[in-house]
Amino acid sequence: MAAGVEAKGFEHMGLDPRLLRAVSELGWSVPTAIQARAIPLAMEGRDLLARARTGSGKTGAYGLPLLHKVLTSKQAAPVVSQAVRALVLVPSAELARQVGQSLRGLAAFCGRQLRLAELCGHSDLAEQRPVLMEQPDIVVGTPGRVLAHVAGQALALRPSLEVLVLDEADLLLSFGFGDDIKALLCHLPKIYQALLVSATLNPELEALQELVLHNPVHVLPPEPRLPGRWQLQQLQLRCSSEEDKFLLLAALLKLRLLRGRALLFVAGLSRAFRLKLFLEQFGIAACALNPQLPARSRCHVIAQFNRGLYDYIVATDEEGTAEPPRHRPRKEGTARKGGSDRGQSPQCPQDPEFSASRGIDFQNVAAVVNFDVPGSVECYIHRVGRTARGDKPGTALTLALPHELERLRRIEDALAGEDGQSLLQPYEFRMEEIETLRYRCRDAMRAVTKQAVREARLRELRQELLNSEKLKVYFEDNPRDLQALRHDRPLHPAIVQPHLGHVPEYLVPPGLRGVANPNPKKRKSLRGAGARRGGSKPRGSGNPLQSFRYSRRGNRRGTPGDTS
Ligand code: AMP
Repeated sequence: MAAGVEAKGFEHMGLDPRLLRAVSELGWSVPTAIQARAIPLAMEGRDLLARARTGSGKTGAYGLPLLHKVLTSKQAAPVVSQAVRALVLVPSAELARQVGQSLRGLAAFCGRQLRLAELCGHSDLAEQRPVLMEQPDIVVGTPGRVLAHVAGQALALRPSLEVLVLDEADLLLSFGFGDDIKALLCHLPKIYQALLVSATLNPELEALQELVLHNPVHVLPPEPRLPGRWQLQQLQLRCSSEEDKFLLLAALLKLRLLRGRALLFVAGLSRAFRLKLFLEQFGIAACALNPQLPARSRCHVIAQFNRGLYDYIVATDEEGTAEPPRHRPRKEGTARKGGSDRGQSPQCPQDPEFSASRGIDFQNVAAVVNFDVPGSVECYIHRVGRTARGDKPGTALTLALPHELERLRRIEDALAGEDGQSLLQPYEFRMEEIETLRYRCRDAMRAVTKQAVREARLRELRQELLNSEKLKVYFEDNPRDLQALRHDRPLHPAIVQPHLGHVPEYLVPPGLRGVANPNPKKRKSLRGAGARRGGSKPRGSGNPLQSFRYSRRGNRRGTPGDTS
């Protein structure tokens, strides 16, 4: 049954004024489709089964009624007593942190009325106990971590729990949390409101739905799997060689043809480091999101990106493949030592709860560049879903080598509109225009040797060891080991060639001279020198990706949709 609820503004949903104030401060002027449908129903106390992709505003859809309920319940209690009233289960530590942050944002004007605890997987169970002793109103965490605390009697959910949320329910199952959720249900009171949110509603979810939900309303907003053309521009460019891909990306970033912050997706971790080091040769700072590092470090990278320290993150899909790992149920009695969130697959050295392409909110991502064509449609959707979030516009550009075209075609076919037309428009770009940069590109590629990539990875691991909280005590007892690590054999990273970072005007494609801004420090003088004299327009706020389809006479660069 689809919810037949008329769309209402936030102010007509009966939400606590403090929450409305936060919504307004966040700049959420109108509810998204999922919010418009789910919030009024959840406010009535109904159980919900909602289909919502990340980026659709789903956290607000369950977060606002959840916060409202907790506030109301605390106010109604004759004596205000602290107790855990809401539990949000998420599939990863990163998501726990992200959801916690979103809820805090929405509760910004509730002062001390609301206490929230995120149970992120990287901390020891013992470290989290004091937080739980304070009986936070809302707990956010992975099922494994929450169950470990319940088993250790640090967390009691009965009889106080009023709302249970299962966020990214399809991932909760595919990440092997099914048994933990079942075990947790035994520790809940008989009556509570349950909200289950999932990007996909597949038959595998049905058993879970039956266990958790009571007479739920199905909220299935008619939303496409990706935002529409007006919000998300999808482009593709065929490259004839590997070198062309690197050259093109260097030109897009160095000449600032691609504006704003971007996620660059590649096929594997070595390649991520290679691309990062390559960009460094051009003085372009990027960080590689390494799935082999612990959640805390990855969260730190994402936080740095969100704070604007980097404009570019090079990311991989989990395990370098397309799909999230499917069912890895944990056997009874194989409890995780130290309450780590999930069992680790022996074939998978990286933390399997991690995925850059699912759920995590990289904020203000203007563009996603698929430097390598993703392995599947699902993977494409999850990658591209990192941009055009909420009501913001975004661009996705996919670069394809001849051997990747078949994969690209499959993605295009699966996403084609009802008219059978591909949604991935060709990106009009004349490679010959950037031939001037090819020698520099080759120099940069040559500098990034296999050894340089290896050393960069080693350097990161060494840094990780030195920063490790867990090893701190060990190093205190074994200072020699710490010294040895510090003075381990010197590494030989890629030598950055400073001249590559500076692109003189004569190397800028003629049509872009005075418009492209390869050396940002000189931005003022370029502008001052009359960069607009030639008729070029200041950069607008719409399409972040500029095309080479422009009329030379006026240096006008058009968007790929232009016919000029
Ligand atoms: P989510 O799907 O919950 O991860 O939300 C994705 C992004 O959309 C977040 O950055 C939210 O801040 C933003 N967002 C959620 N609801 C709205 C809204 N009604 N209007 C504008 N942005 C929103």
